[in-house]
Amino acid sequence: MQIAARMSRLGSESAFEVLARAKALEAQGKSIINLGIGQPDFPTPPHVVEAAIKALRDGHHGYTPANGILPLREAVCAEIAGRYKVNVSPDRIVIVPGGKVTMATAIEMFGEPGAEIMYPDPGFPIYESLVNYTGAKLAGYPLLEKNGFAFRAEDLLARITPQTRLLIVNSPANPTGGVAPASEVKKLVEGLQRFPHVTIMADEIYSRLVLDGDGTYASFIPYLDQLADRLIILEGWSKTYAMTGWRLGWGLWPSRLAELATKLAINTHSCVNAPTQFAGIAALTGPQDAVEEMRLAFRRRRDLCVAGLNKIPGMSCIKPEGAFYAFPNITGTGLNARQMQDGLLEQAGVATIAGTSFGSHGEGYIRLSFAASDQAISEALERIATFLSQVK
Ligand code: PLP
Repeated sequence: MQIAARMSRLGSESAFEVLARAKALEAQGKSIINLGIGQPDFPTPPHVVEAAIKALRDGHHGYTPANGILPLREAVCAEIAGRYKVNVSPDRIVIVPGGKVTMATAIEMFGEPGAEIMYPDPGFPIYESLVNYTGAKLAGYPLLEKNGFAFRAEDLLARITPQTRLLIVNSPANPTGGVAPASEVKKLVEGLQRFPHVTIMADEIYSRLVLDGDGTYASFIPYLDQLADRLIILEGWSKTYAMTGWRLGWGLWPSRLAELATKLAINTHSCVNAPTQFAGIAALTGPQDAVEEMRLAFRRRRDLCVAGLNKIPGMSCIKPEGAFYAFPNITGTGLNARQMQDGLLEQAGVATIAGTSFGSHGEGYIRLSFAASDQAISEALERIATFLSQVK
């Protein structure tokens, strides 16, 4: 059997591997607190579940258009108009089985040997994996703790080369919780006018999880006109409506690319299952109380988690402004990221992810998801402190 060489260049997402190891340890009777996987620990709002059940009862069992049913794409456009005062045609929206598919589609479209794709380091590991898979040059850009792990427009613009085709940005960010300020978003858009050969993909999957204030979010969508036909937005339902297992996301594309994204969908998954699309409409158009309740719960847990981490000798943690991840600096503990991840899992029963799973600039950090109960977070902090006191 000869497998295509590009398969050997595919990476993975450690969160899934750590989850499997945590489950195996639990099966052996060990108590594990899982702060590894990045998903809300809340159920999907009941009216959303009911909409899917109703769709099944109403007979929506067949294929749908590959880019998604029109009422769902219209609901996305209404959401965009409501939040950002920008009107877009539903033809530019492509519904996908999870935001990850928008990511894969964009990287597939631009990546090939000779091309360069820029992505955050530390960042969501699938960017690097897929860029490598296509044979494009890996152009990770560092996100630094001293900048709150947010990108700096000047830095990104200075890294663009004639080969750069796609620039991926992510705010609020996984794994750091960094949020790009509105001023940097604006500066980046202005600077990109000098580089018309670069398309930008803004991964805005955590846009409803800006934790401070009223949650106002600095999106790229208001700059749709300035970025004319080279802005792609990755968004979805997973994190906002606690729907990770449903597999539902949306992409906003330049018209020509929306057609190509739809063609790729026809060649792969055909469409998202119909009842899930109806659930997506209910989520966007129904009551939003659950979204705000979750945001406030994550804010409280963030404060609990960060305060606790900063009390542990050898650890320090800046306040993540968004998403549901803390990314403490562990250099004072004498352990590297992988040693810390493995020690915490095997000896302390706390699942976390080594910062190096998100890129080489993640050395010296671990990621903890605070999408867990207050009690689980408090207990995990105690276990981490006890583990480190025994290591020293
Ligand atoms: N983008 C980022 C930064 C993420 O952290 C995730 C999920 O963890 C995704 C995209 C994909 O989300 P989904 O495919 O569940 O919609």
